[in-house]
Amino acid sequence: MVYEYDIDNSTLYLDSVELPLHSQEENVIGTCSDCNSDVMSVSYHVQDEKTVVGAKCNECNTIYAIIYDDQWNWLGEEVISTGSNPRHADVEKSVVTMSVDEPEDSPELIYLRSIPSNKLSAVFSPAEIEAIFSKASGKKYVRQYLYRARKKYQNFNDLFDTTLNI
Ligand SMILES: [Zn+2]
Repeated sequence: MVYEYDIDNSTLYLDSVELPLHSQEENVIGTCSDCNSDVMSVSYHVQDEKTVVGAKCNECNTIYAIIYDDQWNWLGEEVISTGSNPRHADVEKSVVTMSVDEPEDSPELIYLRSIPSNKLSAVFSPAEIEAIFSKASGKKYVRQYLYRARKKYQNFNDLFDTTLNI
């Protein structure tokens, strides 16, 4: 059973069949399972002996179909769509961030970062420094700049007693 709800037109579908609209009343009829705020009814629909209420969470806009029997006993509920709670956005964002996470920093990169940048820029040009860092991070780099930088490694070692081996 799949409920779909066109909330703007108060039209509720069960497996693509429109359920007759019984009434439209706004009542607090439950608590959002997602954020614990009040869920308000939007429209009441008839399904055989049952009543299906299209309802929306006040806070996060999650939409529910809540099903009652003819004695108004609660039979169940379905989440039709989850709302626009910022919490959801955060979750999505963190998932995205995780999926594009870069591999762990290489020992070379950690070592490079420990060298004060003013020492690096005293010997290397910005393009050469970029090439060194890119190489150490396993990213694309301009070979020409890295070769140029490598020629200065000995010079750098003489000046700052720091060995580079990228
Ligand atoms: Zn909610």
